[in-house]
Amino acid sequence: MALLQIAEPGQAQAPHQHRLSAGIDLGTTNSLVASVRSGEAETMPDEQGYHLLPSVVQYRATSILVGHKAKLTEVDDPQNTISSAKRLIGRGVEEIKTLGSQLPYQFVQKDSTVPRIRTLAGDVSPVEVSAEILKQLANRAENTLGGSLDGVVITVPAYFDEAQRQATKDAAKLAGLHVLRLLNEPTAAAVAYGLDKAAEGIHAIYDLGGGTFDISILRLNKGVFEVLATGGDSALGGDDLDRAVAEWIMQQADIHQDDAGQALVKRLMRAACTAKEALTEANETEIMIQRDNGTEWQGRLDRIQFNELIDPLVKKTLLACRRTIRDAGVTAQEIEDVVMVGGSTRVPWVREKVGELFATQPLVDIDPDRVVAVGAAIQADILVGNKPGDEMLLLDVIPLSLGIETMGGLTEKLISRNTTIPVARAQEFTTFKDGQTAMAIHVLQGERELVSDCRSLARFELRGIPPMVAGAARIRVTFAVDADGLLSVSAIEQSSGVQASIEVKPSYGLSDHEIESMLRESIAHASEDKQARSLREQQVEAERVIEALSAALIDDGDRLLSEDERRQVDEALDILRDVVKDGDQNSIKKQIAALEKSCGFYVERRMNQSIQQAMSGHSVNEFD
Ligand code: ADP
Ligand code: MG
Repeated sequence: MALLQIAEPGQAQAPHQHRLSAGIDLGTTNSLVASVRSGEAETMPDEQGYHLLPSVVQYRATSILVGHKAKLTEVDDPQNTISSAKRLIGRGVEEIKTLGSQLPYQFVQKDSTVPRIRTLAGDVSPVEVSAEILKQLANRAENTLGGSLDGVVITVPAYFDEAQRQATKDAAKLAGLHVLRLLNEPTAAAVAYGLDKAAEGIHAIYDLGGGTFDISILRLNKGVFEVLATGGDSALGGDDLDRAVAEWIMQQADIHQDDAGQALVKRLMRAACTAKEALTEANETEIMIQRDNGTEWQGRLDRIQFNELIDPLVKKTLLACRRTIRDAGVTAQEIEDVVMVGGSTRVPWVREKVGELFATQPLVDIDPDRVVAVGAAIQADILVGNKPGDEMLLLDVIPLSLGIETMGGLTEKLISRNTTIPVARAQEFTTFKDGQTAMAIHVLQGERELVSDCRSLARFELRGIPPMVAGAARIRVTFAVDADGLLSVSAIEQSSGVQASIEVKPSYGLSDHEIESMLRESIAHASEDKQARSLREQQVEAERVIEALSAALIDDGDRLLSEDERRQVDEALDILRDVVKDGDQNSIKKQIAALEKSCGFYVERRMNQSIQQAMSGHSVNEFD
């Protein structure tokens, strides 16, 4: 057999060989690509000088347009121009229906759970759309850097679940890219500011974009970057600031909601957005709007009035900040600095209020649009191996608890939410019935106690468990979440070593909104859930007793019991069966105790019998 050759240490690569890498901020509205060149991380512009690439793809019969060109014709060809792929990626058809009917696309109903959009160039999935954007950015990077990319880091929202992360990776694969790591957007922003250069400290990342708000609390400890908690609001952003201003204009101009057609609403929103952005620099701005009947309204909005209009929205973000600070188990005073990310953090009132909450001057030196891509580029440069010895460890957290279903329809959490990843946790479970040789593993996500209130991620079966009495088998279930947030679950029966496992790549994603409402519900239903859990646990215990006793009766009930005694046991069993059905926790508990008492003599006889059987044929001395 030919031996494989191995180079001497240090000789494998030419010395000082620089590997090419890039960081990609794959955004909902805009995407960017950055790379480290001569030690500096910078975003790269296209040939026209634009750094931002609109995340828009237009499918034509013979060609595909990406970015500005696609955006230009978006209004004329909405059905073939896909502009919100990030909101769709990793989600199922049913879920997308709930996103709202305002999507102009024609979804193809096939048996597949992955949504496809009908276009002139055929049916495309959100993964393919994202792949086009990634390809365009990678091309730009390769042209600028003068070589092919060895690897990329792509950023995703902190709230992206397994399905959305996996779908993003699939898009990268389709684009022919090697993904070094998916990185949470806030974590990338912290890296861009070099917050890792200090010895330790706690930092906040405040990201207010066009349609979403994210807040993250990070801690740097002994060179380890760790996300303590994440939170936010998936339906709060610059668009809402625009809406507040648009409503003010309508009031001033005496335009009524019911009279305003789609075209007027569009004009209003555009005027509001222009005014908002102008007020970032100026103290006052002129607004003009044409009503549907051709008349015009003209007015002025100053910054003080504008601040008042948007204040409730800013307050909403601060509320989410406080909640997340609490989740992180820190106080606002402990947070050293707050990084501003997203175009809407240019608004002075936002900066002022955020500064007040954290009692510090927010960090705004790096362009809030580019900061995420810059951080991703720095991380990519390290991961691709250009900086040996400068291994930065970035840890993120999982947004919702992960667990499995146990008897009684209860959820047992193996990894609780906000646990830093990568993480692996194992727990032992056992069988419910005598001779049970298979076990159904149902993987769940969510905070609630009952399976019916959690989200089902996957199911698989462990078969080939050697038959044993109930409760004797030891099945070790391990949950492992890798650095990209992808989950794998395995189950192994300890004595025989039989095992089964699954990679969780659920066909349905989960929206930020749903994550939020799941969290909210878990808080709202906490005490109710606790009661439901105790009741279910008591029911399972009763069923276990019924199961065991019934099995014993079949075995030797006739032999060990007189007819009268048998009736007595059967009656007690029947009462327990009834109580399990509609009794409360206490009455079930009482009836279990009553049953155990009334059957005490039977249990004693069974024990005596088994001792006699064990001793038969042996001399008493052997047992000394
Ligand atoms: P996303 O992360 O959702 O893609 P961005 O971070 O690009 O969004 O932010 C887009 C939002 O930022 C828009 O609502 C836009 O109006 C707002 N924005 C951009 N520039 C300014 C500015 N100078 N003043 C106020 N808002 C701005
Ligand atoms: Mg963004």
